[in-house]
Amino acid sequence: MTFDQLGLSEPLLQAITAAGYTEPTPIQSQAIPSVLSMNDVTGIAQTGTGKTAAFVLPMIDRLASGRSRARMPRSLVIAPTRELAAQVAENFEKYGVNHKLTMALLIGGVSFGDQDKALMQGVDVLIATPGRLIDQFERGKLLLTGVEMLVIDEADRMLDMGFIPDIERICKLLPPRRQTLLFSATMPPEIAKLAAQFQNDPKRIEASRPAQTADTISQYVVQLKSNDHKARRTALRRVIESCDVKNGIVFCNRKTEVDIVAKSLTKHGQDAAPIHGDLPQSYRTQTLEKFRSGDLKLLVASDVAARGLDIPDVGHVFNYSPPPNSDDYVHRIGRTGRAGRSGESFTLVCPEDEKLWDAVKKRVQKEIEVYTLDGLDDEIAELQPPSRSSSRSRSGRSDRSTNNNKRGNSEQTKSNRSRKSDDRQGDFLPPAPSGPVVGLGDHVPAFLQKSV
Ligand code: AMP
Repeated sequence: MTFDQLGLSEPLLQAITAAGYTEPTPIQSQAIPSVLSMNDVTGIAQTGTGKTAAFVLPMIDRLASGRSRARMPRSLVIAPTRELAAQVAENFEKYGVNHKLTMALLIGGVSFGDQDKALMQGVDVLIATPGRLIDQFERGKLLLTGVEMLVIDEADRMLDMGFIPDIERICKLLPPRRQTLLFSATMPPEIAKLAAQFQNDPKRIEASRPAQTADTISQYVVQLKSNDHKARRTALRRVIESCDVKNGIVFCNRKTEVDIVAKSLTKHGQDAAPIHGDLPQSYRTQTLEKFRSGDLKLLVASDVAARGLDIPDVGHVFNYSPPPNSDDYVHRIGRTGRAGRSGESFTLVCPEDEKLWDAVKKRVQKEIEVYTLDGLDDEIAELQPPSRSSSRSRSGRSDRSTNNNKRGNSEQTKSNRSRKSDDRQGDFLPPAPSGPVVGLGDHVPAFLQKSV
């Protein structure tokens, strides 16, 4: 199939050729004709499938005729994160070069002043995160009664982020006669309910089975015996050092972990930077740009920050721990192995992660190879604080002489010799206390010893 069979206009076809695309992806060839014929569409598609163009291209043609009015956008795209919203805006700019559509981006972290000005001038396309959209509506800067097309992008992520009530509220502010497109990587019941409530007989399009991992990704698990974060950070470094990493994303479950891991990697000589929702927008944009252009090797990210980011050709994905939601595992490792390229993913699994890891294995339905690093167990054992009954020396190694070289039990094991260095200066746990432990006993304060 070619783009000119989809019913798109000539100026748009020229923009597509200029973007270098020769044929539509499956989600594009299915969605574009439906959107052009004004149907509602429910698209089940992960990022990387070309789903953004699947709605941006036909929207541009749909909006080509008609005029915008002050404060009354003609179409609305709601995205869960600022980065994803900015990415949709980039797509509009790229494909809309031959059209004269106006656009505004309403995201947090950008001054209200510029956004107010754009809204006052009237826009054809408004791209927004839910919170900022509601803020602007409540400030009286926006009327949603002129919206002819609504796109809810990454709906399952909206659910995870607690945005569904906001989405419901926004939908109720829109005119009932409109076209609604909803895209989601998975279709949990809450999203199916949202679709049923706000879409009219939608055409359901599935680009690939939900939660499927690409065969181009070699997946490995690194099993650790300790739950200690210092051990995790050491293991992460060793894994990174053992691979030939051109660029990669390290995923963490918490924003605080993102900061700590990025700092630790940097201290140990890796080129790494954090990205998560609490960082200033300018820093996030700059970091992403550096990563995209190849000036930054490792992006340490939270799921929310990384979701939907269009970063082509990532060679490696490292999971600092398995994600709380097994769908996110698919999203995370889907950052590599794109467009037929090969990629590798490594997941650190500590004893406390076993439940999460079981859920991931159940979800991907694939054998995940065990990855061992010679000497890692020894090194981690060395990091453990000494027990009180033994000597306080950090170099006491008597009880762990046998666990070097334990490799997973089968030919399903990938092994790799790590360079063993002893530079641990970047770790963050405070040193073990050295003086006597003070508790109650001789130290019970007098007022506590008074009889009642
Ligand atoms: P998305 O799934 O929208 O995040 O898109 C993933 C990547 O695919 C982006 O880098 C797009 O620029 C690219 N892309 C979109 N459509 C096509 C196409 N028809 N052919 C090749 N690449 C595409």
